[in-house]
Amino acid sequence: MAEIIDGKAFAAGLRERVGRQVATLGEKHGITPGLAVVLVGENPASEVYVRNKGKQTREAGMESFEYKRDESISEQELLDLVDELNRDERVNGILVQLPLPDHINDEKVLAAIDPDKDVDGFHTVNVGRLWTGLPGLVPCTPLGCSLLLKDKLGDLSGKHAVIVGRSNIVGKPMAALLLRENCTVEIAHSRTHDLQGEVKRADIVVAAVGRREMIQGDWLKEGATVIDVGINRIPTDEGKTRLVGDVHFESAEKVAGAITPVPGGVGPMTIACLLNNTVEATCLQRGVEVPAG
Ligand code: NDP
Repeated sequence: MAEIIDGKAFAAGLRERVGRQVATLGEKHGITPGLAVVLVGENPASEVYVRNKGKQTREAGMESFEYKRDESISEQELLDLVDELNRDERVNGILVQLPLPDHINDEKVLAAIDPDKDVDGFHTVNVGRLWTGLPGLVPCTPLGCSLLLKDKLGDLSGKHAVIVGRSNIVGKPMAALLLRENCTVEIAHSRTHDLQGEVKRADIVVAAVGRREMIQGDWLKEGATVIDVGINRIPTDEGKTRLVGDVHFESAEKVAGAITPVPGGVGPMTIACLLNNTVEATCLQRGVEVPAG
């Protein structure tokens, strides 16, 4: 049976470390990092997510600024808000919660964020930094996955990693991070011919597909490490819903060496990495070293 990778516990440890780093920044440099989160419109899932971000930001000792705007906000008004936050010295990290309403161009808004405050790591400048090996801000979810993998496996050098999914948010930055760790990286997607065959060769599988329980246990190589990024809500017999990943957990845990559960695996790492990125962004902007924590 696979070892369960406890993302919830790891994320709690990471948040505590961020808290210690924030305390050191305050004591040594008189700096309190600040994170601004912008939420447009009424999306219950996004509202829960934004509330959690604010709570965890404050718990880590940082300042949290929340900007809620009506669905009817114009693109220009949103760009003006981003510009204001770019210039606000109390704000070290800016996160615009996606998705945005249809009349607003996501890319245009993300491109307006100062790359040094882009704690989501989605700005093309940060994408370029990641792929060229320059220091920069890295997207939170893949960063969380790579931290879990390094914690579990130690040196990732030479491992064959198959990432299923090629989104800009998860799949592609995940590939860059694993390449940086000297993995042999393969990205599979909806046009991949023999997906099962590709997954079978993998020492590391990262599933970021958005299709419930698609990857089955018999697709896996014995002892593989499986990171399940997927979050899919399915109805239960009791008329409620529950979350499942992109990997069929029950069959996969019989074959894998280690596996992240859903929930409690990758999910909690995302906000913890956002807090981590806010500290990194602050240090970058203020020209101070990131405290060890
Ligand atoms: P996207 O929908 O942007 O990308 C999905 C990717 O999966 C695409 O590259 C697509 O290929 C590929 N794909 C779809 N169907 C198949 C298939 N049958 N076989 C092979 N590949 C396929 O999703 P995201 O990357 O944004 O998210 C992926 C999952 O991760 C979702 O479940 C999402 O909810 C979850 N997620 C979780 C987060 C967390 O905090 N834990 C954060 C972000 C996402 P193609 O490009 O060819 O269309």
